[in-house]
Amino acid sequence: MDDDRWMSRAVALAGRSPRSSTAFAVGAVIVGADGREIACGWSRDTDPLVHAEESALLRAGGEDLTGATLYSSLEPCSKRASRPDATCTSLILAARIPRVVIAWHEPDIFVTCEGVALLTAAGVEVVEMPEYAQSARAANAHLLPPIMPEGAPEGSPEGAPEGGPEGSPKGAPEGSPKP
Ligand SMILES: [Zn+2]
Repeated sequence: MDDDRWMSRAVALAGRSPRSSTAFAVGAVIVGADGREIACGWSRDTDPLVHAEESALLRAGGEDLTGATLYSSLEPCSKRASRPDATCTSLILAARIPRVVIAWHEPDIFVTCEGVALLTAAGVEVVEMPEYAQSARAANAHLLPPIMPEGAPEGSPEGAPEGGPEGSPKGAPEGSPKP
């Protein structure tokens, strides 16, 4: 089982996704029991709404996937605004893929994702490779809140200015600081 090799590929595919401000960039690869790549996909690769796992499953066509592993850089979605009846979780279950490997749990930015829980409940083996999470996040940095340094004051203004709290302007602000 060459999980590292395939997850590296899934993460690299995520980087091909056209950027969106409303959806993640994800890569997915489906690998057969014989270790052969059956299909791959990435976010928005064939149409503006398609998800990576969905795209890979479409490309897999009618192949028997009952021995396959699906690698995805992100947890498969369980709620989907654009195509409510075609979540990646439901598509994976319909394809009877028995094993799913992910790098990164979907953060609750757009929806709360229950993909891993639903897959596990349905008997799918779900493996996480957190060592790839940072790479999987990288393609989505524009969607993620900046990582605040430890001990940053709470209640910082929403929409903090670019550049963050460090690097305050050299020129003193007009309102002079309180003594
Ligand atoms: Zn999806």
